[in-house]
Amino acid sequence: MRILILGGSVEATRLAESLAREPSYITVLSLAGRTRNPVLPPVAYRIGGFGGVAGLSAYLEREAIDVVVNATHPFAQQISANARASCEHTGVPLLTLTRPPWTAQPGDRWLECEDARTAALAIGERPRRVFLTIGRLQLPAFALAPQHEYLIRMIDLPDRAPDLPHHEILLARGPFTLAGELQLIDHRHIEVLVTKNSGGAATSAKLEAARQRGIQVIAIRQPAKETDRCFYDVSELLCYLKRRAEPGKLRHEPHN
Ligand code: NAP
Repeated sequence: MRILILGGSVEATRLAESLAREPSYITVLSLAGRTRNPVLPPVAYRIGGFGGVAGLSAYLEREAIDVVVNATHPFAQQISANARASCEHTGVPLLTLTRPPWTAQPGDRWLECEDARTAALAIGERPRRVFLTIGRLQLPAFALAPQHEYLIRMIDLPDRAPDLPHHEILLARGPFTLAGELQLIDHRHIEVLVTKNSGGAATSAKLEAARQRGIQVIAIRQPAKETDRCFYDVSELLCYLKRRAEPGKLRHEPHN
């Protein structure tokens, strides 16, 4: 069975590691090429865009892919839409491997927002010290709220400096510890955390730290991903693939 994993997430790396131990699968992991020093997988990989829906559809046909696993980050919307359209066009099943979003616990001060723009405005008029953990792509939205003091954590520097008069960039890659997050909140006198609701364990310590310090959390909701079937667990996805290991079978039974 020939599997294309659309990657760029912890889940994609875990799936690639598991499939590398299964000789009956030919696996290719695809990375967008955004991260400057990506963690490389133990399976074949390719880096860079496909060239939209047409490019991805042509790739699926040329490489005779039997199943696509969309294991991109929950907020990777364009590639997810492209995968849906290409799989529909070529008849290749599309599975999704992802993680459940974080949920507020009783007593948490959470505000959920649709997008980065709404989150920026939700911080309020009064200047506040904001811990911003939304990656670099959605930073421009925060130019709508330039009065705040931003501590921006990201993996790589943005191509252009953020258009924010009061900001500091902190380059760091998770996982992060609770002790580290508490220290950061205390030392920087953080008043509000703005985050994408990415789910997963690697970056969830900031939520527990915000909880312990009674800090407001503004969380940007995960967009929906269209898929034939969604998995939150690598081993469940592997079982599903094994049950349908005969080439071509997945094409006819995507919902079973
Ligand atoms: P996006 O907006 O959904 O995709 C933009 C374009 O990048 C796609 O149209 C595609 O180009 C290319 N692309 C994206 N993922 C790809 C993949 N796995 N393999 C090949 N091409 C890919 O994506 P994004 O939000 O910029 O995220 C880019 C990558 O970073 C994703 O792989 C994602 O898993 C990872 N990531 C994203 C976030 C986030 O918050 N968005 C956070 C952490 C990691 P073509 O149209 O040319 O095919």
